[in-house]
Amino acid sequence: MSDPKCKICRRAGEKLFLKGAKCFTPKCAFERRPTPPGRPLSERKHRSNLTEYGIQLREKQKIRNVYGLTEKQFYRYVKEATDAKGGNPVDHLYARLERRLDNVVYRLGFAQSRVQARQMVSHGHFMVGKRKLTIPSYEVGTNEAVSVREGSKGSPLFTQSGEKPKGQSVPNWLTFDQAKLAATVTGVPKYDRGETGFNFQSVIEFYSR
Ligand code: SF4
Repeated sequence: MSDPKCKICRRAGEKLFLKGAKCFTPKCAFERRPTPPGRPLSERKHRSNLTEYGIQLREKQKIRNVYGLTEKQFYRYVKEATDAKGGNPVDHLYARLERRLDNVVYRLGFAQSRVQARQMVSHGHFMVGKRKLTIPSYEVGTNEAVSVREGSKGSPLFTQSGEKPKGQSVPNWLTFDQAKLAATVTGVPKYDRGETGFNFQSVIEFYSR
């Protein structure tokens, strides 16, 4: 039986890399069966028949699942982004999701997936500035430093650095010191549809209906 996370990929019609290392192996469920879960394709409407609403819904679900948020949490981000004064809601939404502590840990390559990153944060492996922070949703501010807690540096999680997520490099809004296992947020995450592969605009439109 397909793993629930893998079903999300199969439903989205693309690999969303929700399980870390396994996603890069031939065991990936999407590689083995890139069809939506449920009834065989021959028995249901083809995807191209999706309405605009259906397309926006699918994109919203995809992005929400990539960041590992519940509908309520995700909706709150979107609402706050659309209510924000000045700037573009898309940019606000993207920047806030990217600055979540669990996402920063993932972007730095300490975790193979955001799920793992969230667990590592909750287990107290990271400091923000001088304090240990166990809140994955914490939004790391400009000039704030994220580092591996001194007591965790000897953990196999960090000594056996293992494989970093393939194709993932540290984004330019983070300055990373690999030797110190520490990074600083030095810029604002900028949304680029081509780079992310996600249509954030359609998410905003979905909730504006
Ligand atoms: Fe499962 Fe990862 Fe493959 Fe998605 S990319 S189907 S989560 S193994």
